[in-house]
This record gives sequence, C-alpha cells and structure tokens, in this order.
Amino acid sequence: MKIRNIYSPNFSQKKRSYKSIKFLIIHYTGMQSERESLIRLSNSTSKVSSHFLINRKGKIYRLVQDNQIAWHAGKSCWGKYKNLNKNSIGIELVNKGHKFGYTNFKKKQLTSLIRICKNLIRKYRIKKQNIIGHSDIAPLRKIDPGEKFPWKELASKKIGIWHNCNTMILKKFRKVRISSKFKSEFVNSLKKIGYCFDNKKKGNLGKIIKSFQMHYRKELINGIIDKECLLIAKNILKKI
Ligand SMILES: [Zn+2]
Repeated sequence: MKIRNIYSPNFSQKKRSYKSIKFLIIHYTGMQSERESLIRLSNSTSKVSSHFLINRKGKIYRLVQDNQIAWHAGKSCWGKYKNLNKNSIGIELVNKGHKFGYTNFKKKQLTSLIRICKNLIRKYRIKKQNIIGHSDIAPLRKIDPGEKFPWKELASKKIGIWHNCNTMILKKFRKVRISSKFKSEFVNSLKKIGYCFDNKKKGNLGKIIKSFQMHYRKELINGIIDKECLLIAKNILKKI
C-alpha cells in the first residue's frame, strides 16, 4: 500500500504501546479543500491531527505514526473508555462536510479506507465493535463522518458492525412510537453498544439518538426513538 508521509507535530510527547491501540475512529475533514485540511492537520497552531488522511482520489497520507497519540478525537467516550485519542487511530476522509457541501464519499477513497482498515485491524487486533465514527464517541459536539458514510458496505468487508434485520420489515416500524419502558430498553441497549450518556443537559439524549441514527438508520435522522431504532439497537447488541 502506497502511503505518502506528511509530518504533523500535533501529537502527545509520550509514545504509547501498540497494545493500547483499540479503536479506529473515522472522520471527515469538513473543510473547503484537501489542501486546506492538510495544512490545518499539520500546522502546530491548530493542535489537531490524525494518523491518516485519505483524499477523494484514494491517496493516503500518514501524518502521525501509530505509536504516537494524535489529536483527533478530543473529549470523547465509548463504553468504559474516555478521551479516546490515547486508544485510537484517527482516519480523516476528505469531504467538505455538512457545513460546506456534504457529498458522497468517493469509490476510490473508500477502497483505500477499506485497505487501510484491514491492515490496522490485523496489526492491532481491533474488534469490529471498536470501529466507529467521531459522532459516535462525541455525539454532543460532532456529526462526522455523517449519514453518507457507508457503514453497511464496510461491515460487509468485516469492518465495523451492521445489523441483519430485514429492511422491508424494519421500514414498517419507522416512526412507530414506543412506550417509555421500551425507550429505556433502547437507551440501555445503546449504553451496552458503547454510547455514553451524560444526562446533565436536556437535549443531549436527542443528539445521542441522532448519532445512532446517522450510523445505523440514515433514512430518518430526527433524534426521536421509534420501534425501528429499538429493533436495530437490539440486533446490533447481539453481534457484540
Ligand atoms: Zn472528526
């Protein structure tokens, strides 16, 4: 696999052991251009970086070595892990994002992503439930890689998790309201999947549900729990 190196100084001084690498976190750059993204991710004043960046043509850049802690996740949480930079590899995909014109990810870009993920999964024995998006680990702040990211397609290549519910049946339960008992069952399922809940603020729950929907139910992202969401969450849980 051909990888071009571009040095970024935005990583922690202390090196980490390879054993501490447990997650792959997918991002989009959310900037106007690839050039701008590369400048930002490698400029010491920005304090942000990632291990890899993949452009729209599928070209891969390495900005930070795997045994260094790159600054891509920020304040984040998944299961019992907090502030995931130290336990993860960050992969940025060039995409203008929701702010500047969110577009489908390119085929060549995804082909490179799949190759790099397979490599990292093998190298660090990453569990499939630990391949997630920035919005999954920071739902109150982040919405990348967004609903156009093809999680289902990746799961078919053994990267990440997808449900095996019948989509025709699922669709019938979209917008079907459920009782508070089932709502708490849904929240508990999400917790077991890894989503972290901080119940301090009203509105937080809606954002977490939206993150779940962006990942697993992109047809309707409204932050409202319905029966389809519950069925998907319970199915995902069985695969962990
Ligand atoms: Zn991100």
